[in-house]
Amino acid sequence: MSKFVDVILPVPIGACFTYILRQEDENVKIGCRVIIPFGKKKIYTGIVWRIKDTAPEGIADIKEVYSVLDKQPIINSKQRKFWEWMSSYYLCSLGDIFKAAIPSGMKIESETYVMLTPDFDEDIKLTNKESIIYNSLKANKEQTIAQIEKSTQEKNILSSIKSLIEKGVVSIRESLNNKYHSLKKANITLNQAYNTPAIINELISQVQRGRSENQYRALTTYLNLIHYDESSNEISAVDKKELTSQSSTSDAIINSMVKKGIFNIVYEKLNRIKEFVSTQDAPNALNEYQQEALNSINKNFDQKDVCLLNGVTSSGKTEIYIHLIHKTIECKKQVLYLLPEIALTTQITNRLKKIFGKDLGVYHSKFSDAERVEIWQKQLSDNAYKVILGVRSSIFLPFQDLGLIIVDEEHENSYKQYDPSPRYNARDCATVLAHIYNAKTLLGTATPSIESYYNAANQKYGYVELNTRYKEIQLPHIVPVDMKELRHKKRNVGSFSPLLIEEINNALQRKEQIILFQNRRGYAPIIECKECGWIPKCKNCDVSLTYHKKLNQLTCHYCGYTITIPQECPSCHNHDLRPHGLGTEKVEDEISNLFPNIKVSRMDLDTTRTSKSAYEKIISNFENKKSDILIGTQMVSKGLDFDNVSIVGILDADSLLNFPDFRAHERAFQLMAQVSGRAGRKGKQGLVILQTRTPDDPIIKHVIKNDYLAMYESQLMERQLFHYPPFFRIIYIYMKHHNENVLENASNIMAELTRYSFHNRVLGPDKPLIGRIQSLHIRRIVLKLESHSSIKQAGNILNQIKSQVLSDKRFSSVTIYFDVDPQ
Ligand code: ADP
Ligand code: ZN
Ligand code: ZN
Repeated sequence: MSKFVDVILPVPIGACFTYILRQEDENVKIGCRVIIPFGKKKIYTGIVWRIKDTAPEGIADIKEVYSVLDKQPIINSKQRKFWEWMSSYYLCSLGDIFKAAIPSGMKIESETYVMLTPDFDEDIKLTNKESIIYNSLKANKEQTIAQIEKSTQEKNILSSIKSLIEKGVVSIRESLNNKYHSLKKANITLNQAYNTPAIINELISQVQRGRSENQYRALTTYLNLIHYDESSNEISAVDKKELTSQSSTSDAIINSMVKKGIFNIVYEKLNRIKEFVSTQDAPNALNEYQQEALNSINKNFDQKDVCLLNGVTSSGKTEIYIHLIHKTIECKKQVLYLLPEIALTTQITNRLKKIFGKDLGVYHSKFSDAERVEIWQKQLSDNAYKVILGVRSSIFLPFQDLGLIIVDEEHENSYKQYDPSPRYNARDCATVLAHIYNAKTLLGTATPSIESYYNAANQKYGYVELNTRYKEIQLPHIVPVDMKELRHKKRNVGSFSPLLIEEINNALQRKEQIILFQNRRGYAPIIECKECGWIPKCKNCDVSLTYHKKLNQLTCHYCGYTITIPQECPSCHNHDLRPHGLGTEKVEDEISNLFPNIKVSRMDLDTTRTSKSAYEKIISNFENKKSDILIGTQMVSKGLDFDNVSIVGILDADSLLNFPDFRAHERAFQLMAQVSGRAGRKGKQGLVILQTRTPDDPIIKHVIKNDYLAMYESQLMERQLFHYPPFFRIIYIYMKHHNENVLENASNIMAELTRYSFHNRVLGPDKPLIGRIQSLHIRRIVLKLESHSSIKQAGNILNQIKSQVLSDKRFSSVTIYFDVDPQ
């Protein structure tokens, strides 16, 4: 009797694929990886999802599993349950989740190589593109598609390759590539036969007689380098590299001595990840307010699975987390500590490692894939980290016994993954994951998301407040500055009001630091011809190109399309092209001109993109007072803790408000309140200068008064009125295509069918604010579902409608996807 397995694959289509097991593989376990053939030629790594005794009906030839990679599962039953939930809630395939969850080093895949066919007919006519590919292959015998695209600088070559295959000019082959290799160190030991001083002496003279100077040196150096461990009665091994360098010999010489049976080589697997060392026995003692909050959280956890900790900035939320983690791991359970952004991990890692040392693991995408594979493997072993600190993707790590998830800065929208699928919100996933493990979730923030606050207000979540800052530093004083009026009077200096410049000056004199916040990177978001108003736009997207002055480039922030600055306007040949608007690079420029002797650093995507250490350097320079002014985008607003910042400047509050999005006001409040919270030092109140052209805007007023509740209530009213969360669940249906007419038709039909099932809960299709990205036109249909309704049922209907639209030949190449709970 044969056995069958349902396997999930890292491909977006379908759910599971059935394969037959070879007899020797029949004891494979659910959750193990298998190598399987797919389609005509492809080979993939799949994960066993189900094991069955009978073949599914109606499938003619079921293919065989090539091999089983694991003895033990690499994902456990709780993870499988979590993936199933994710797939049904976020309307995505298990394959999408597989792709996102597992480091690529654990997914062996085949790659297609293209090569010339020997003795094909030379007279065959080739198109221009085809001959370019042909020439490239002539020079370089075997190449992957990506390599050919690179060497020929041609794009979209697949159709040409296909036609070259049909003409018999090229053929292809699939090759497996294993991306993960463990780091190994070669150690040298002496052959066990040489186990007494007499025999070793005999060996030395033997080598001497052999008249190999090199071998003699290698042997004597080896004997000098080893030491004998009496307790274990063992002789230490010698690192091969050290041996060759100390004895001035080479690998070849050592290898020949191995062949002769003098030495043995023993490989030792090395860890890529260094262990932390703890330097502190116990967490810091809490002050009375913190202790009270901690008690209250614990009491809430007796009855509720999720608790919201609403604590002002610098109240010591992190200290409370540390106490909770400590207690949880004392009970032999694991903790997942989520942060919204990699930039924050540095400071928190430094605080956690002091206490948790080798029990602490960090996980995010700035680690190499090989490092992520090793963390994954460690989490499966008996020696798993007890605490994982990570960004959203760490919800996919295996845990053996999770007791607590902390979601820090729970209001942050970076917990939501926009692209690619799965489009999940890690905060919301955390509560589900915790539930599956029977664990608790603590959401922490100084500016709760409307949804979480609403859940707390309705007793769905526990709720704890912490209103006193540590050492009772006062919350900052926020002063609005009317930029419109000042501009009218021509009082501003560049992007700065006189008040802000004066306060920066004062702070610098007092040797205090300053943070300047502008949520836009680059020099200016637009350049414009002064004469005719021409604005350079991206050729692939409907956006203007951002001016990057240092690089002398115009860049699209959506697709990366980049050109050098044109010398003149192409439409009227005028030379006067002027930047408009304000980006962080310009702020830096202006500040350096105003304060030439002051050290300024900038933190945005451009300055931190390059390496894992780039963030750390900017943050530690500022912490160590090596720079006086820190300029940044929203990156500087998030949970960073500096002790000498007295002034925060919000340069252009209006740019945060003017978004046609139901969350714009909530987010503007959160950003401004958060960045303001960076101001204030021990014993002194900080000052925030808030520059705006609309000082009477209600949100600006709420920020100035630090009145979260007023913001919450006004927003809640709007949300109820216009059917938004938390009263309604939103699903965006996105549709994309190169051809706008095709898209227009497809989206109209999609909307019509959706309306047929969901009636007036459907809006659109509309062209979003940016109507074209990467050459694809975009349409969006909005579906608003009552919050108690089932996403699963709605999802089934939506998927059916999607299939129906795609089955129409005209629309088969339209991309359709769903974004559930968009941010
Ligand atoms: P939050 O997370 O609420 O912003 P933090 O935990 O970062 O606040 O605390 C702010 C600062 O005060 C940090 O530098 C922290 O080390 C210090 N701090 C807070 N509580 C304590 C405590 N109980 N003992 C020692 N230092 C504390
Ligand atoms: Zn012009
Ligand atoms: Zn673009």
